[in-house]
Amino acid sequence: DAVDSAPAIVVGSGYGGAVAALRLGQAGIRTLVLEMGRLWNTPGADGKVFCSTANPDRRSMWFRTRTEAPLATFLWLDVVNKDISPYPGVLDRVRFADMSVFLGRGVGGGSLVNGGMAVTPLQSYFAEQFPAVDVTEMYSTYFPRARAMLGVNSIDPAWFESTEWYRFSRVSRKHAANTGLKTTFVPNVYDFGHMQREAAGTATRSALGQEVIYGNNHGKRSLDKTYLASALGTGNVTLHTMEKVKSVSRAGDGTWVLTADRFDDTGAVVETKQYGCTYLFLGAGSLGTSELLVRARETGTLPALDASVGAGWGPNGNVMLGRANHLWDTVGANQSTMPVMGIDDWANTANPVFAEIAPLPTGLEHWVSLYLAITKNPQRASFTYDSATGGVKLGWTAAQSAVSMRMAKKLFDRINSANSTIYRYDLFGSADKVFADDFTYHPLGGCVLGKATDNYGRVKGYSKLYVTDGSLVPGNIGVNPFVTITALAERTMARVLAEDTAP
Ligand code: FAD
Repeated sequence: DAVDSAPAIVVGSGYGGAVAALRLGQAGIRTLVLEMGRLWNTPGADGKVFCSTANPDRRSMWFRTRTEAPLATFLWLDVVNKDISPYPGVLDRVRFADMSVFLGRGVGGGSLVNGGMAVTPLQSYFAEQFPAVDVTEMYSTYFPRARAMLGVNSIDPAWFESTEWYRFSRVSRKHAANTGLKTTFVPNVYDFGHMQREAAGTATRSALGQEVIYGNNHGKRSLDKTYLASALGTGNVTLHTMEKVKSVSRAGDGTWVLTADRFDDTGAVVETKQYGCTYLFLGAGSLGTSELLVRARETGTLPALDASVGAGWGPNGNVMLGRANHLWDTVGANQSTMPVMGIDDWANTANPVFAEIAPLPTGLEHWVSLYLAITKNPQRASFTYDSATGGVKLGWTAAQSAVSMRMAKKLFDRINSANSTIYRYDLFGSADKVFADDFTYHPLGGCVLGKATDNYGRVKGYSKLYVTDGSLVPGNIGVNPFVTITALAERTMARVLAEDTAP
């Protein structure tokens, strides 16, 4: 096979990959980005790039015959999921034995499908999770840089108080206040100016049109519109899509050798390619990067990788749940898909929880208050190589999820008790499933900063090999993670470009 080579290769185009690509390109280093998903820029027959959650088609999910949305049912009816034809759709759900992980697939990774909540973690908890990182520098330089580049903005508080589209948040805020709990506004990368124009009827509805987990056609500043657009604009960055990196090894001269499968819209492999580079940046996400490195260590292509590669994984303590409101406490038929508020009980050292007030936009009044709770679950698990499949297994157990579930339950039992309300029993497939603790939106760890890498994401055991994505975060960060991932990647790139790539 012909070897296509570049000075630098970046695997994956989510937050970690996008930051690496931009900063390499700006430094004048010719860079190739390899992404297994599609470039989402071409409208389908309906004139739209993405489909909505209300009416999913093949664009919704990654090679499925039926959608697998986080909410399995509604009023016990299987009305949420729909049959689709297999296609490289934008949302994937990777199922391990006791935990499934939702992921974005495409140019922009998770930024294409996420809720856009752009939260900077509490400084004290960041310091606890990253004891060797200079927190002053993080909070004065890299977090502000990340927020500016991501286009973070905040909802106009006056509009929030008056619009029907956030009634669901105000109702949950009232119930939190009745419990003596604090709520806080959360910034977002969705353009709130656009959202107000959607409400006024002068812009096409996206957040107000039930678009989110299968992509937003308007308003969202996903990475393809921010970091990646700037990266391509440097003229030094090239992007290959629908190419999945399978293996990483090192040539005799110390350069990196990658193999990648290029496949078509049916999933058939049409070509296996070889790539070479001097500097290799892994931004394939917690699952993708951990899998590549665990496989490389266990199959012997990179035997010097540290024993901690694959370890330190956690789901950020995620638990989803719904509460049933009183009939007079309507949440509104119209709900924006972009969350803007959270219940912040992290300071409660006996039971730290940050719960995002999540929308459930169905176009009908349903009296559900939905939440994605982030709990301070200290449990961690490891990825192990599965020689039978060539993939990895994740050791996370149901008992470990139950730790998150109990923490979420403690908080929401208080809220229910203060408001004389109960949980919703009809959302997650069976009547005894009130807390969805078996999936996560926030996979973190597997190549933890300072353990599998040095303090800047340089992988131990090899030079010129870097990790820039969510696998660096040790299993939990207490808030939605992409601002943290972006800021850490900025910090890595500043250091690497100053110290490692100078001629
Ligand atoms: P990713 O963004 O996952 O990017 C990895 C990329 O690498 C992907 O594009 C993938 O296709 C590609 N890739 C993987 N393996 C390979 C390979 N072998 N070869 C080539 N390419 C590969 N976070 C927040 O902060 N706020 C939110 O509101 C929020 N909401 C969310 C809602 C949903 C539904 C989901 C799924 C996630 C949400 N998240 C949110 C989480 C956030 O999106 C992730 O934490 C973030 O995307 C992780 O960034 P990353 O750079 O580590 O990896």
